[in-house]
Amino acid sequence: MSFKIISCQDRVVKLFQNAIIRDHLAHAYIFAGQDGIGKTLFSKELAKAIFCQHPGVDACDTCGPCQRIANDNFSDLFLIVPEKNSRVIKIEQLKYLQDVLNVKPLESKYKMIIIHAADKMNEEASNCLLKTLEEPPSYAIIILIVTSLELVRETVRSRCQIVRFSPLSMPAVKGILVNRFHLDDKQAERLAFISSGSMERAVLLSGTHALEKKDWLINRILKLEVHDNLTFSKELFDEWHIQDLDVLEEKRTYVKELILSFLLYYRDLLVCKIEGELPIYCTGWRDALVSKSQSLSEDTLFSIIHVIKTSLEYLDRNANITLLLENMITKILHLQFGYRIPSVP
Ligand SMILES: [Zn+2]
Repeated sequence: MSFKIISCQDRVVKLFQNAIIRDHLAHAYIFAGQDGIGKTLFSKELAKAIFCQHPGVDACDTCGPCQRIANDNFSDLFLIVPEKNSRVIKIEQLKYLQDVLNVKPLESKYKMIIIHAADKMNEEASNCLLKTLEEPPSYAIIILIVTSLELVRETVRSRCQIVRFSPLSMPAVKGILVNRFHLDDKQAERLAFISSGSMERAVLLSGTHALEKKDWLINRILKLEVHDNLTFSKELFDEWHIQDLDVLEEKRTYVKELILSFLLYYRDLLVCKIEGELPIYCTGWRDALVSKSQSLSEDTLFSIIHVIKTSLEYLDRNANITLLLENMITKILHLQFGYRIPSVP
């Protein structure tokens, strides 16, 4: 596909095209930015541009290396990803990387390694990576793909050129959903709104009846009563079929989506409250939202949004998912109704 397929990352494309022309590629890069904005796609297109048999600022997309890279079958390109059911890169995988780099490239002057989730590795693995970065062979190009630069050790960061990727624009996400995934205009627009510029998220949501589930949730939250505290989280798990999922990571993805729906709802209430010009997600419920927002103060809404954002952070830190959701709902109801819910002994 070549760089033409990359949306909203013109600055990054230009940076690498210049580096390729001048033969100034660094030994190590960190590609940083939220999930689903094209970091992986870009690294693959970059590999094509570098290994292509027709030198230039972009890949030809037809030669042997271009084709084999597209099929993940090129001998000087290696991908390292967390193993199935694991969220982290393990030390064994980093040792394998060292072995790979000890052997000279077979087909070109470079050997490229792309490490996914490089911000998610333990101390031991991180030390191993550091050793590799301290003395990379002359032919190495190592790309670390991360969502959180803060989680990468300073010693690792300082040895890499940092490349920041931007979230995709709403029109770009909508355009891709319509043109490549053949979604209708209205559906694509709503998904683009909630995707936060992440194509991965938009595509995931399009295949899970997420819009219908979010509609159900908004209708339900609007009718929320203080005594719903004990039953609401179970209701959510049932309605979103979360208990049917076996894999914890899958559960986490769905619960994240659920929590983000709460965030959208309360954010919309805040926008209605301050009569801002910002667009709201729940456009079909505007009157109900405006009326609901009258009964809540701005302080209360900010506090609820803070509770939801904190829950999102804890979710990423492996917390007990069910308990996390129950706690969040209890705190929201407490704030919303100004009523202290007795704690369960
Ligand atoms: Zn080519």
